[in-house]
Amino acid sequence: MAFANPSPGTAELTDAPCFTAGQLVAVLLPLPLAGAYDYRVPEGMTLTVGTFVHVPLGRRQEIGVIWGAAKGEVTATKIRALLGPVEGVLPLPEESRRLVDWVASYTLSAPGAVLRMVMSVRPALEAPKALAAWRLVDQAAREDLLEGLRMTPARQRVLEVLSLGGAMTQADLAQEASVGPSVIKGMAEAGLLTSVALDASPPPLPQPDGSHPGPQLSPDQQQAASQLVAAVGAGFSTTLLQGVTGSGKTEVYFEAVAEALKRGQQVLVLVPEITLTTQWLGRFEKRFGAAPLAWHSELTPARRRDGWRAVAEGRASVVVGARSALFLPYPNLGLIVVDEEHEAAFKQEDGVIYHARDMAVVRGQVGQIPVILASATPSLESMLNADAGRYKKVLLQARHGGAVMPEIAVLDLRKTPPENGDWGRGWLAPPLVEAITETLAAREQAMIFLNRRGYAPLTLCRTCGHRMQCPNCTAWMVEHRMQGRLVCHHCGVSAPIPKECPECGAEDQMTACGPGVERVAEEIQARFPEARVSVVASDTMGGPAALSEALRQITEHEIDIVIGTQVLAKGLHFPMLTLVGVVDADLGLAGGDLRAAERTFQLLSQVAGRAGRAERPGRVLLQSYQPDHPVLQAMATGDTEVFLTTEAEGRREVGMPPYGRMVALILSGPDGAAVESAARKFGARAPNGPGLTVLGPVPAPLAILRGRHRWRMLVIAPRAVKIQAMVYQWMRQVTQAEGWPSSVRVQIDVDPYSFL
Ligand code: ADP
Ligand code: ZN
Repeated sequence: MAFANPSPGTAELTDAPCFTAGQLVAVLLPLPLAGAYDYRVPEGMTLTVGTFVHVPLGRRQEIGVIWGAAKGEVTATKIRALLGPVEGVLPLPEESRRLVDWVASYTLSAPGAVLRMVMSVRPALEAPKALAAWRLVDQAAREDLLEGLRMTPARQRVLEVLSLGGAMTQADLAQEASVGPSVIKGMAEAGLLTSVALDASPPPLPQPDGSHPGPQLSPDQQQAASQLVAAVGAGFSTTLLQGVTGSGKTEVYFEAVAEALKRGQQVLVLVPEITLTTQWLGRFEKRFGAAPLAWHSELTPARRRDGWRAVAEGRASVVVGARSALFLPYPNLGLIVVDEEHEAAFKQEDGVIYHARDMAVVRGQVGQIPVILASATPSLESMLNADAGRYKKVLLQARHGGAVMPEIAVLDLRKTPPENGDWGRGWLAPPLVEAITETLAAREQAMIFLNRRGYAPLTLCRTCGHRMQCPNCTAWMVEHRMQGRLVCHHCGVSAPIPKECPECGAEDQMTACGPGVERVAEEIQARFPEARVSVVASDTMGGPAALSEALRQITEHEIDIVIGTQVLAKGLHFPMLTLVGVVDADLGLAGGDLRAAERTFQLLSQVAGRAGRAERPGRVLLQSYQPDHPVLQAMATGDTEVFLTTEAEGRREVGMPPYGRMVALILSGPDGAAVESAARKFGARAPNGPGLTVLGPVPAPLAILRGRHRWRMLVIAPRAVKIQAMVYQWMRQVTQAEGWPSSVRVQIDVDPYSFL
């Protein structure tokens, strides 16, 4: 991260905090418009910057945020008056506004598009409505009425539920008393129940307690923790917390969380995937005596609304969430932790394209608060920032409680190829099969890892060679045998597995090529019929609850062999797991992604880190056709430093990130010819300058995605070049010129992680 583009809006935000009647203000709307719109403050109002306001927009109304003084670009007489403040909502804090401006200018997005992420929960901007509820009429009135009323068991239950004197909403009452609405209606008509307005404010949140006692830290952990604790309350800093899997990073950063809580500040913990945090949430609650606010897309609308307001009002002291939690309106944020900071899931790939880890560092700077980046295998970006002194570095060298690091070996598939069996093709080499046998005999647990969902990644016809391709994407259809369907992993389209080849018509000739987790599971069941087997992949689980249940079963050793994709790689702790087998350690290495080696190394290290985390030592077997590849060598020798140094050196030589900077442009549209011609227009006006490289335009590797044709360009520049400004100019020139096809969309991806 380099802070090369200071926020354009910063000055205005601090210069003009308050506006009175007749003054002109700029209101930012949560829409992808070029900038803020000017409005007049109506008579009798004084509004501060950051206030949420209702404004007229064309013939409709919108809610926006007062962003500062008007720019004065529109003739004053044409400016409309805003309608007034949104009642019952605090102004958007200055830090949030500056974050919006910063992210917009860094990612070359419309500020309104970024604001939309802040205002993602519209109902949170409406004052809480009072709820209609039922209460029993008082004792005296009741007795008279009861005499004349036929008492049924259902009515009796309603009386009992309400007899404690409380009021209840219709839905709650119906559920508690297990009666239908007509029973309640009848009792109300008889005069037994009276309706009251119930305060709709949510019940108070349980508050995590910073002084709740934590575990006894080892001397190493203690030392690491005190460095993190010292950073809390001491302004902006970024600390890379690096420690092998199982070294206690979580316990250590919990100490910094405790410190912020003691200071009465809010804490944000960003995690790559919130659905995977069940174990983490349990640990947090044990450590602090209460649960944090978990923020994710599967919350019900009511919970999202309450959550947003609890954050805005400072009532939620700890938020744990995926990347979007960064945009909540914290008034009092004191610490940000980014757990598993190297994870690609922090990169948002559509809409506003941003990297939540990098923007977390920006948020830290904007709010002058510390940021902790935790990982066992830090990204090269963060490593270099630490080496350059931009980040502090705190190391944890050993696993906690004497657990040793697992023994890692590479299985050369050229020398010991898998053997086939009566179930069909085999994917597990004999040494791995033997290791599983030994593990089961010792009553321990094994994990077989393959980062590929489904049964087989490709289906083809044995007669004519026809391959089943997605009708909307440049991608093969993946067989999911459990569902009996072929599925595109890019657009989700699915079709039954055909009996006849759609090309040559041959019957029963369609055959699966290559393994997915389902196919490996089939082999495992055939080889170990007695074993209790579970397949864990994002699509074999019905949802977060099913996933939690599967993880519980594994933790409690109700499963002997678990077969899974990367869902299983991260941060989980299975005490009985002593063997990890990786079916295809080469999988991530193919393809032109500049981070392919780095990512594969991180993923394999994460997976390997699942083995032997408790008393029993673990071992890891990596199946590979290229055991001499630097990634596999680094895994086998455990020499991370050598690998990372070589990797960094390679990037430096060619000026790739993190040494150079990159921006990708992706053009897409339904009409292939229009997209190509638009791409060529970009190509014709490509910027040039010292050290600058522009690659493309070329058709994207995913040349068609969801029916849209795609072309790509990549700009690579030395760090000193203001790459955003340059790309912005270029884009304006091309897209505002005569004849630009309106059907073509241009996406800009600053610091791209995906090259498809
Ligand atoms: P990491 O995040 O580095 O992988 P964790 O924080 O998950 O490591 O710790 C690994 C395991 O060791 C967890 O079960 C954790 O509760 C336990 N642990 C770590 N440090 C301590 C400690 N000081 N006291 C007790 N248990 C600890
Ligand atoms: Zn598709």
